[in-house]
Amino acid sequence: MIVAIDGPAASGKSTVAKEVAKRLGYKYIDTGAMYRAVTWKALKEKIDVTNEDAVVALAKGSQIEISELKNSHYKVTIDGEDVTEAIRSPKVSAAVSTVAKVPGVRTALVKKQRSYADIYPNMVVEGRDIGTVVFPDAELKVFLKASPVERAKRRYRELKEKGHKVELSAIERDIITRDKIDSTRAASPLLKAPDARVIDTTSKTISQVVQEIVNLAKKELMK
Ligand code: C5P
Repeated sequence: MIVAIDGPAASGKSTVAKEVAKRLGYKYIDTGAMYRAVTWKALKEKIDVTNEDAVVALAKGSQIEISELKNSHYKVTIDGEDVTEAIRSPKVSAAVSTVAKVPGVRTALVKKQRSYADIYPNMVVEGRDIGTVVFPDAELKVFLKASPVERAKRRYRELKEKGHKVELSAIERDIITRDKIDSTRAASPLLKAPDARVIDTTSKTISQVVQEIVNLAKKELMK
């Protein structure tokens, strides 16, 4: 079964999706990490992220791997380089939506995401367009949402813990900007699939949200 989890930046998707995958014993795929890895590589190679041909070539030509270490910790590599931490930097966050709106980049990464389904029939896949475009036939689709202020606070705490120097107001601005680019782009905008279940995580704990999704998945499996 494929469980598609979509939602805006910092809506709690990663934390929740990883835990749901662990509870169900499913493979976890973080598609945002793939867009981030391509962005990281573009910045490293000093490629202008608005140069569409160049970023498409990068997306097509790079080998991105997401592998599980242990205890729901995942390693992300691009062309063999470990970028697990680097792709979460504010610089990558600020540029990623510009790269992700390029249709050719999406085509290359969506192809890779779909190819995982041939290897892993049971997956929890998180992103922006999983229920709408990547796996429109996913058996369970969840759309997570939370207020921008709550999402900014969550991301702020996360980055602080990792030792990044950040300001709450700058993060809130970044999140609002990313939401806008992600929701208004022509290619696969962030959109709730008509058959997705909406969960507002603003005043819920992670374990409450996880339990809700696990319950929905179990219900689906009994059908
Ligand atoms: O999920 P995360 O915030 O790490 O995603 C980073 C960015 O990657 C998003 O803001 C969005 O621009 C892009 N993305 C996307 N489609 C996906 C997953 C992420 O466009 N399926």
